[in-house]
Amino acid sequence: MQRHAPKEHIDRVLSEIKRYEGLKPVPLYGTERTVIAVIGDERILDERHIASLASVAKVMPVLHPYKLASRETKHETTVIKCNGVSVGGTTVVIMAGPCSVENEEQIDAAAKGVKAAGATILRGGAFKPRTTPYSFQGLGRKGIIMLENAAKKHGMASISEVMDVRDVEYIANHIDILQIGARNMQNFDLLKEVGKCKTAIMLKRGMSATIKEFLLAAEYILAQGNQNVILCERGIRTFEDETRNTLCIATVPIVKELSHLPIIVDPSHGTGKPALIPPMARAAIAAGADGIMVEVHPNPDTALCDADQALTLENFKNLMKEITPIVTAMGRNL
Ligand code: PEP
Ligand code: MN
Repeated sequence: MQRHAPKEHIDRVLSEIKRYEGLKPVPLYGTERTVIAVIGDERILDERHIASLASVAKVMPVLHPYKLASRETKHETTVIKCNGVSVGGTTVVIMAGPCSVENEEQIDAAAKGVKAAGATILRGGAFKPRTTPYSFQGLGRKGIIMLENAAKKHGMASISEVMDVRDVEYIANHIDILQIGARNMQNFDLLKEVGKCKTAIMLKRGMSATIKEFLLAAEYILAQGNQNVILCERGIRTFEDETRNTLCIATVPIVKELSHLPIIVDPSHGTGKPALIPPMARAAIAAGADGIMVEVHPNPDTALCDADQALTLENFKNLMKEITPIVTAMGRNL
């Protein structure tokens, strides 16, 4: 649509597209311009008719298979507001906290420490996708409430993983960002379910997913009407075994070129080693990442999950100091 097209013109285009059986219009509202993506068999659409409607700027085919996630469809980068924190704007967003919520004292101490060091989003898993069924599986809904309380008390937004379609509504009622973990990147029913809510979603790259598959997974969420999708590169499986995963920093500029969605990097799961987390956080920000997610534990020795990769609060404070000049050099702020 043309810039600042009036609502009645947008509505008219939507209703004209709905008249075609098998085509679905999905409006993407930008700050200046609304783009109406038409999903379905493009051969049915009478482009000249749509182009003749008031305030229509251009009708064009989108070549990428990920129609809604594509920068072809929407040029401006999407900025997602999560309880006062914007992801995708000039601020580099820092998400930090323990791998899993263990008890009230632990999550409160983590929140207090990471907030004081500059993080604005508190992470903490309550539903944990563990490799073995015998390790700690998370506190479930009780953990969600503990995370919610700690985030509120310290004035932070919150993020936690959802693994099951039956928990989407509950978690969305208490937490600001729903995380889809690497192991669920292609759980299509879960993607569709989170696509039906308005809550921001952070989709992590599957450990053997290509970037195209990653963007198509995001497309599942967008196609249900939820535009608030944040991508997260967290490393992929390769033959290399010095690091837990191989952190693909190139994903950041590739995604920036292909998509309007914000992307953040998780150097904790990406490397699995505390010593590598600060340098990879610097590299991610230098590559253009919109934020980083880091695992921080007030007492890593006692952590019930991913103890080996947890940063102490002191380590995290140093990481924040190290990334500051990089953030500034990129013309951004914390
Ligand atoms: C996590 O962030 O807690 C997590 C389980 O990460 P991933 O899905 O990337 O393994
Ligand atoms: Mn973890």
